[in-house]
Amino acid sequence: MTAQIIDGKALAAEVRAEVAVRVAALRARGLQPTLAVILVGDNPASMTYVRHKGSDCESVGMRFVLDRYPADLAEAALLARIEALNADPSVHGMLVQLPLPKHIDTNKVIAAISPLKDADGFHVQSAGALMIGLPGFKPCTPYGCMRMLKAAGVDPKGKHAVVVGRSNIVGKPMALLLLQAHATVTICHSATPDLGAFTRQADILVAAVGRRRTITADMVKPGAAVIDVGMNQDEAGKLCGDVDFAGVREVAGSITPVPGGVGPMTRAMLLVNTVEAAERAAG
Ligand code: NDP
Repeated sequence: MTAQIIDGKALAAEVRAEVAVRVAALRARGLQPTLAVILVGDNPASMTYVRHKGSDCESVGMRFVLDRYPADLAEAALLARIEALNADPSVHGMLVQLPLPKHIDTNKVIAAISPLKDADGFHVQSAGALMIGLPGFKPCTPYGCMRMLKAAGVDPKGKHAVVVGRSNIVGKPMALLLLQAHATVTICHSATPDLGAFTRQADILVAAVGRRRTITADMVKPGAAVIDVGMNQDEAGKLCGDVDFAGVREVAGSITPVPGGVGPMTRAMLLVNTVEAAERAAG
């Protein structure tokens, strides 16, 4: 039996429709939910991501403000711009598109963003809130993965979840969200010996590595829910995930495809965080 495909594109459309209703309610009260994005330099991938964020905002009736700066922008000037957006009551969510040029300290920049407007959920206060179970903005990718599990009817409670990858923006927050949902969680990384020995125990397997075919069919427990966060290129230069989709779909119970899985959901959850920021601002 082949796995149920968790359709991130369709689910993202559902999420956007929900956000659009919340945006309309705020607009009826005279508040225009707004996301501000700062883009430094002209990295082509970043430019594409930012363009998508703009069209996503437009599609749900949100205002999108884009601040573009040349790659040689001084760090102090960027920090000053963030301060100005922090103080601007017409802006509810903001983010600085990563990666930043090397002369700019990314941690310092993220720390400068008001935690009240932290649409990416990368601020240390958002991370801390997630760690101790307080309300706060969740990083969009793991937030979207949780929504995908829910849509597939997978309740993490009592399950063994294995997360491969321990980055601050995907692996660690993913593990914390699964823990919050009462899964027993294992985190694997590049120093984990015999990765398959761990992944084969997973009822829920999340791959967030950045290396194609890291997860093959022999590494998956029959019936497992497999979430593929990876964004890589295959031999033909086409987008692919960390999971060998063709093989693993024959073993897993449910699986997210790449493209059309976690990517669209990550974009949708940015809108959720932004509308939430606007709702909080509205009181
Ligand atoms: P990072 O490079 O920051 O983290 C990768 C993690 O994978 C690290 O923790 C690393 O371990 C671990 N790792 C590397 N090699 C192995 C291995 N052989 N076995 C086990 N673990 C390994 O990447 P991100 O977390 O930022 O992103 C992960 C992937 O997800 C990338 O492909 C990225 O493009 C994609 N991505 C997709 C998004 C989407 O919207 N679909 C959003 C964000 C990311 P260690 O810590 O020891 O180095």
